[in-house]
Amino acid sequence: MTDRLVERFCAMVRIDSESGNEARFIDAMKGRFEEELSATCAVDAHGNLIAKVPAKGAVDVAPIFLAAHADTVKPGVGIEPIVEDGVIRSKGETILGADDKAGLAAIVEAVLTAQTRPPVEIVVTRGEEIGLVGARNLDLSLLDAERGIIADSEALNEVILGGPTHASLDVEIVGKAAHAAAPEHGVSAIRVAAQAICRFEEGNLDDETVSNVGTIHGGMIRNGVPERVTIEAECRSLDHDKCLRQAEAMRAAFEAAASDAGATTNVEVRIEYEASKTSEDSSIVRLAKEAISAAGLEPETRVILGGTDALILSGRGLETAVIGVGGEAAHSTDERIRVADLEKVAEILRHLLEIAAAE
Ligand SMILES: [Zn+2]
Repeated sequence: MTDRLVERFCAMVRIDSESGNEARFIDAMKGRFEEELSATCAVDAHGNLIAKVPAKGAVDVAPIFLAAHADTVKPGVGIEPIVEDGVIRSKGETILGADDKAGLAAIVEAVLTAQTRPPVEIVVTRGEEIGLVGARNLDLSLLDAERGIIADSEALNEVILGGPTHASLDVEIVGKAAHAAAPEHGVSAIRVAAQAICRFEEGNLDDETVSNVGTIHGGMIRNGVPERVTIEAECRSLDHDKCLRQAEAMRAAFEAAASDAGATTNVEVRIEYEASKTSEDSSIVRLAKEAISAAGLEPETRVILGGTDALILSGRGLETAVIGVGGEAAHSTDERIRVADLEKVAEILRHLLEIAAAE
């Protein structure tokens, strides 16, 4: 199984699929799934792939979906995987794409090797890395499964139950331009930004809430009072209301600082997704934990402050949990994954299908 799995994984990462350019990868997977898994495939209007694989050795068992995302971050063009000492890495100029093709390769391997399985719906989403847009637009009418697993986290023994509400803030501050030699005629937008940012808390606010100012752009020339600044900030909390309160505190800080200085500001707050948590007692979480145990690991559950497609799918009514795929240094050119981990994920998913088939 190892060679076939590693080969499949390497073949997947060799097909470029940076966010927004997944079509060729989706099309290739459609072809492979039809051929290798006898799957019935559909690509929805957004370009997500749904591949239905019939049950094996199981009758009257509810279908289950197994999902991974097609897209990678940049630099993800021309990935050349290298297998060395049991570790797969890129040549160094690109990411590897184990996030999330390790998940997808393991899913296919599990479907192929499971002795028994319920009907499986492999869901390959687009645009996960740029705001979970594929999951948002996934055509659920093409799915029969009401519960499923996303293979897209790190630790192999962990089941991720849920995540935060995430608010994005786009801020514009407009002061008044003036020559640096006559600053009394100007209002510095940079100074307003600095004062505003110092008025709200940043970093870890408590054990479930964080906030961050990620970018700041402003000013045109050294010897001019800067008229305009734009800022991208965000906050997240596992507690929905805390996230909203923090976003409002940030907005209020920008508005107060601008008003005090005689500048104007426009703050747009956007809720990217809302906190959700799949119950420890849900059948999908129990299934995931049993599968991890069956593969010889000690299962643990937790919630994370990152976003996954699970937040969107849970919000849309599907019972969803996330499992790890191993892999290290995702989103960097050092990204790598151990062959043993890739095999372990496939093993966990194989157990999961066999246990589900016997339910
Ligand atoms: Zn991912």
